[in-house]
Amino acid sequence: MGKRILVVDNDRLCVEFLADILIQHGYEVCKAYDGMEALEALEKRLPDVIFLDIVMPKIDGDRVFRYIRSNPKTAHIPVVIVSGTLAEEMGDILALGAEGYVAKSQRGEFQKNVLKMLERLDDGDEEATREVLGVENLVPRHKVKELLAIRRFLRTVLDTIPEAVVEVDGRQRILSVNRAGLEMTARPELELIGSPLIDLLGPEHRATLDDAIATFLKFAAGSPQEAVSLRYGGRVLHVLFTWVNVNEHTQGFFMTLRDVTDLARKIEELSQLNTRLQRMDRVRTELLTMVSHDLHTPLTAIKGALQMLLQETVGVELSRELLALAQKNADRLFRLVSDILDLARIEAGGLQRRREPFDVVAALRGTADRLHRIALEKEIAVTVTVPDTVPPLSADGMRIEQVFTNLLGNALKFTPRGGQIALTVKDVGAEIRVEFRDSGVGIPAEHLDRIFDRFYRVPVPAGTDAEVEGTGLGLSICKAVVEDHGGRIWAESQLGRGSTFCLTLPKAVVPA
Ligand code: ADP
Repeated sequence: MGKRILVVDNDRLCVEFLADILIQHGYEVCKAYDGMEALEALEKRLPDVIFLDIVMPKIDGDRVFRYIRSNPKTAHIPVVIVSGTLAEEMGDILALGAEGYVAKSQRGEFQKNVLKMLERLDDGDEEATREVLGVENLVPRHKVKELLAIRRFLRTVLDTIPEAVVEVDGRQRILSVNRAGLEMTARPELELIGSPLIDLLGPEHRATLDDAIATFLKFAAGSPQEAVSLRYGGRVLHVLFTWVNVNEHTQGFFMTLRDVTDLARKIEELSQLNTRLQRMDRVRTELLTMVSHDLHTPLTAIKGALQMLLQETVGVELSRELLALAQKNADRLFRLVSDILDLARIEAGGLQRRREPFDVVAALRGTADRLHRIALEKEIAVTVTVPDTVPPLSADGMRIEQVFTNLLGNALKFTPRGGQIALTVKDVGAEIRVEFRDSGVGIPAEHLDRIFDRFYRVPVPAGTDAEVEGTGLGLSICKAVVEDHGGRIWAESQLGRGSTFCLTLPKAVVPA
């Protein structure tokens, strides 16, 4: 048996013609009608020589040629390029570096050239690699040239766009991948050509691609598809499909991968912004509810007092009482408005965050000193226990002192005469913990998780006549400030036995 020759050409007539000649002269012939079939044939059995047409649809000849050369199994097989059209671009063809070149021409002439080429290969004639046999008989075909120009143009466009575009045949095997696709997958095109599309992005994305393709095939009858999202190497990709020919599905389709990482990030930013806006809106609504209710009460009291004062019949003593009442309510109004403004500012994230070296112990002692007079009046013993050394923190000192004042103020407010309050600083690993323990009235369990809500105050039990001053905003402010510093705040309590408010502040600097 003679040598085995693989003939690759999409023009069936040409294949038969060449095969005829070769068989007549004792060669064994294997035929492939496109690039993909050529790759399959090479997988099955290696030929001694390959005759390869250079212009073919799907995978064109020069890519098949590069595949043959890059594959160690096939690299040694002599390839004869058969060209029917590219007379004007002989330089390009010769530059491929094949073992021989034959131009398509009339039967007699062609047969002579093919046999001569095989002879030259046998002889190892170097000349074969430097000329195209029969080129003088090639008729330039302008139409084909134009088509080739269009093809080159399309390839350039495909290689310029940022989306990865992958073309597959009717059996979903990869025919071509554009530049963006090769960069995205970081794989050479020749490694990808002929492989199944679902393997393109590696085994972990096989299932997603498989699903996406199945959905496309099922609903693709022209209906607009929704892009499937995919996370690939830290990027977010949108996967889309398009038929090469809607009416002829066997021609395969294009898969487009669009990098939407930036878009996804923008959407995430917008969604965070939206959450913030919603929060601000909630604060605003609560504020309005509050204004209509809590602000109304002291204002009514002040207005009533003033009205009575304007009546000439009011005596000196009553005048004093009315003025005192007005002042008390004005104070309350002032506190309310300050608290509301504070909270609104913190909650809206508009608080000017300051971070400076902060000495927890000094601040706690300072707070105890400032409220010393109230403790003295109520005969409440306030003790401060701190470790030998406490590392300085980075915090907004004024805000944290405001928290300490609120918590100690509450402890004094809700602890009856003669009680005890213990303030403790503890160094616990990555954070500093501050505790405010009082022997006061305590908080009923069912209210414990609500006292940090805005305007929430534990209802005073019936029969208790002592009305306790307050806005119900102090603990919300404490919570907002502590959390803004990366810490936590919570309360433990037993009704009638006292409460402990704990807060933590991280030692590590929380960026301002
Ligand atoms: P207020 O201005 O009413 O004190 P806060 O937000 O500071 O507002 O507190 C909310 C509610 O939590 C208080 O009204 C009170 O019912 C309860 N509370 C806070 N601290 C204590 C405490 N040390 N002992 C008992 N109850 C407390």
